Amino acid sequence: MQKDLKEQAKKFQDIEVKVKDMKKLIDNSLLSLVKEREEKELKVGIFWPSMIGDCMRKVYYMYKLGLREPNERSLKIMFLGTTIHNILSEALQKYGNVNIKSEVEVDLDLGVIKIHGRADNVILLEGDKASSVIEVKTISSRKSMLLAPKFYHVLQLIIYMKYFNASDGYLVYVYRDDLSTKVFYINYDEGLFNYAVQRLMNIHKYILEDKEPPPEAKLDENMQWQCHTCPYRRECEEKISRIFEKV
Ligand code: SF4
Repeated sequence: MQKDLKEQAKKFQDIEVKVKDMKKLIDNSLLSLVKEREEKELKVGIFWPSMIGDCMRKVYYMYKLGLREPNERSLKIMFLGTTIHNILSEALQKYGNVNIKSEVEVDLDLGVIKIHGRADNVILLEGDKASSVIEVKTISSRKSMLLAPKFYHVLQLIIYMKYFNASDGYLVYVYRDDLSTKVFYINYDEGLFNYAVQRLMNIHKYILEDKEPPPEAKLDENMQWQCHTCPYRRECEEKISRIFEKV
């Protein structure tokens, strides 16, 4: 009896070790795959299209303190976003009866600044006369059902539309929990494009003058989520507390 119990306990221990090892193997492999991204480097005056929606201070730090890897959770969410974009591109290509281009590159020369980079989550729908731009965004859960597109997503799409000379744009939100979608139509608007450019010009000025912009995300409740995953949070908060110390 005693011997049986001992054998049983040993069996459970062995299973526990096997489960732990398997979890470690899966988690480490997944993380390595997620981190397998091409090296990116920044040059002053050249902005990535995705920066339009980033907190201004965070973008400033990216240029001044160097690029830092996002935390593990953000990396995995970004990876899921790209994976869903690839699935959608493949589905449209295979069953949608449309001509598409994905993994497109944007290169807009605006004089003082440039917007350059690969548009990872964009699909170009090629029609007979004009193209439409589809930008794919993933969203956490249907509980946070969107009633309108997010402003900075619209600005990013407008940049792509300008570059591809498209008057029609679509923001497609894909819910990560069940792959259901919500689609918004966006008409090209030159005023919004100018606003986006001005925003980047402002950040460029802060960089050239070596002056930290205000902590935009902390001050705007719609952007506050960015602070939770910001790799420059420590520097930003130290700066804020130094300001309070002086008051
Ligand atoms: S912590 Fe928030 S406010 Fe500060 S730089 Fe990061 S995103 Fe911007």
